[in-house]
Amino acid sequence: MQAQIIFTGDELLMGEVLNTHAQYLGRELAAMGIEVLLHTTVGDNRALLRAVLQNAWDRSDLLIITGGLGPTTDDLTKETVADFLQLDLVPDKPTLQGLEKFLARRGIAMVESMKKQALVPRGARVLPNPVGTAPGLLIEKDDKIVVLLPGPPRELQAVFAGAVKERLKFVAGKGTVMHSQVYKLTGLGESQVQDRLADIDGRDNPVISYVAMPGEVHVRVSARAASGKAAKDMVDALARRVEKRLAKYIFSTGDEELKEIVGVLLADRGMTVSLAESCTGGYIMKLLTDVAGSSRYLAGGVVAYSNEIKTSQLGVPRETIDRYGAVSEQTARLMAEGVRRAVGSTLGIGVTGIAGPDGGTPEKPVGLVYIALAGREKTVCRGYRFPGQRAGVRAGAANAALHMLRQ
Ligand code: ATP
Ligand code: MG
Repeated sequence: MQAQIIFTGDELLMGEVLNTHAQYLGRELAAMGIEVLLHTTVGDNRALLRAVLQNAWDRSDLLIITGGLGPTTDDLTKETVADFLQLDLVPDKPTLQGLEKFLARRGIAMVESMKKQALVPRGARVLPNPVGTAPGLLIEKDDKIVVLLPGPPRELQAVFAGAVKERLKFVAGKGTVMHSQVYKLTGLGESQVQDRLADIDGRDNPVISYVAMPGEVHVRVSARAASGKAAKDMVDALARRVEKRLAKYIFSTGDEELKEIVGVLLADRGMTVSLAESCTGGYIMKLLTDVAGSSRYLAGGVVAYSNEIKTSQLGVPRETIDRYGAVSEQTARLMAEGVRRAVGSTLGIGVTGIAGPDGGTPEKPVGLVYIALAGREKTVCRGYRFPGQRAGVRAGAANAALHMLRQ
């Protein structure tokens, strides 16, 4: 099944409101294997909405239109869709009664314009809105499905997650089905990732796509096929090759976040960790403490930004810093061992690097970061060259440090 989504509202075009429906519906439909061909945002304008509806009708089996179901004069979605589909608007009794009750409970008097909300295109299914007054609508015509959803995000999600999903479950497998697998990586830039996959053909179907974010790159393998199983098989075959090439850098293959994965792992193993952060300045600490219950495995740490603190608090000898530099494998190792000893944790992490924009040299460029992990028996250290600007280097270093805790 292929879909188009039309978002309505001048406020979206003018940047007053961020279009969060796009993300919510995009994710939900992708998870159901429904391929979204196009998103269109249109202002509160009848003629343009009609044109956009025509385009969607010509190309897709599923049309979702959001917003403009309310009682005000700029809410013209229902009228325009009914007109486009050549359906009369007729009063829906249960909706009117529901609206009366809803208003009575809040002590609001019904005004004429509100009654507009109880009009529905003839034959449309009225979808209950448990958190607001404007119900959603689902119209089936000429083998196509047209869904109208209320604009407020809470209401849109409630209506979609209820009746719409229930209906789409039965038709999502019609025609083509989409399947995709995502890999989240850290420690490589977008083009370095692409380079490693250069000889794997992922241009058409299945297709490999890349998303770069500060400190991470997401690689998505997706395929279209006549059934969910066939699409999954196509994805799996290619995904296995991608995974093999990039295994070292993959920190997640789903929605779960690294800071949560690491937390569960440490708690399961009964381990505690402490941090000595230089260039990340507490960023790793922030990530770990984002997760409720992190006190079970996070002991504490030191933001050792200056050399003095590295020496006085972590016991890194002045000579080591003078000889190898604050940004060096030697310093990172001693920071990790020092914090582990000082705090008395199972593991210690030491991070030192050059976040930029200044401070880089040909031997030690911006983006160079050493991350050490000290345990009871040994200390391991890895040097990274993170691409991007200061924010990317710091986020990359934090991700890589968390990633090291997994191994
Ligand atoms: P209402 O009965 O509240 O008028 P409605 O169905 O007519 O509902 P709109 O008037 O289009 O919907 O929008 C209502 C609210 O929802 C506004 O605050 C609007 O900013 C918000 N909204 C609409 N579309 C989106 C969107 N795509 N993403 C996030 N918020 C949105
Ligand atoms: Mg409105």
